[in-house]
Amino acid sequence: MILTTRLLHWYDRHGRDLPWRGTRDPYRILVSEIMLQQTQVPRVLLFYTKWLRRFPSWKILAQASNADVIRAWAGLGYNRRALMLRDIARHVINRGVPKNEKEWLNLKGIGPYTATALAAFSLHHQTFPIDTNIRRVAGRLLLGRPFPSPSDDDRLRHLATRLLASSPTRSFDVPQALFDLANANCTKRPTCITCPMIKHCLAAKKFLSGSVRVPKRTTIKANETIHPGKKYPDRIYRGRILKRVRETSQGISLQALGHLIDPTFRPSQDQTWLAAMVHRLKKEDFLAIKNKKIRLG
Ligand code: SF4
Repeated sequence: MILTTRLLHWYDRHGRDLPWRGTRDPYRILVSEIMLQQTQVPRVLLFYTKWLRRFPSWKILAQASNADVIRAWAGLGYNRRALMLRDIARHVINRGVPKNEKEWLNLKGIGPYTATALAAFSLHHQTFPIDTNIRRVAGRLLLGRPFPSPSDDDRLRHLATRLLASSPTRSFDVPQALFDLANANCTKRPTCITCPMIKHCLAAKKFLSGSVRVPKRTTIKANETIHPGKKYPDRIYRGRILKRVRETSQGISLQALGHLIDPTFRPSQDQTWLAAMVHRLKKEDFLAIKNKKIRLG
């Protein structure tokens, strides 16, 4: 297929040299995939090597405590991912590395995209991972849809089968090339004029004619809880709680925590809200409470 040849030719010359692309090690690939969920590539690059130095294998990670992994994850946000990664390492140590997409999908915390990515990048199975970026660029290229939605995924998967089959020895590079094209040209407002795929793209003419209206938002923000009178969603304050607790080795009292996470904290109105967040973080194993002092779990 000319399209695949052209895409891979461009990728060979302009693709990003990312550390998780030079390996088939499922551990290293999983670490990158989990970090890349909700975090941009440049930020992941700051943490990826550091994490691997600290936890170089399934075995070392499996032995880590909650506090160890939460500390090592500091700065990446969405701390649940750190515990999840450690729990997957424990599963792998006990039961072995999953051998296919379906087995990966059975693990807690692994969704369809990550399972497919692992099968593609580690096992080199001819399978097509679809995330927001791949959907956008492949949907434009193959379906001519300027702003494809998840309802297009089945058709995309079907068309991608031919794309991957046309380059069987490099099928795993096709999604990587699409990621880079999504980053280089095929952004929300694509620069089709300099795009290497312009001649093959079913949406290029639509964009070039100026007839496409770029929606203000292409993603729907997840429902987030905002406590009355607070500026940010609870997610931000949960992150601040963890940060403050992480910074102290002595533990911290609930009373002291309020003002540390929010300068406008009013004990009479906010204490119950704070206690509920701490309780939830404890339930999720991020925190532990001993002698009324809050510590990492
Ligand atoms: S031609 Fe435009 S729409 Fe098509 S892949 Fe390239 S940047 Fe995206």
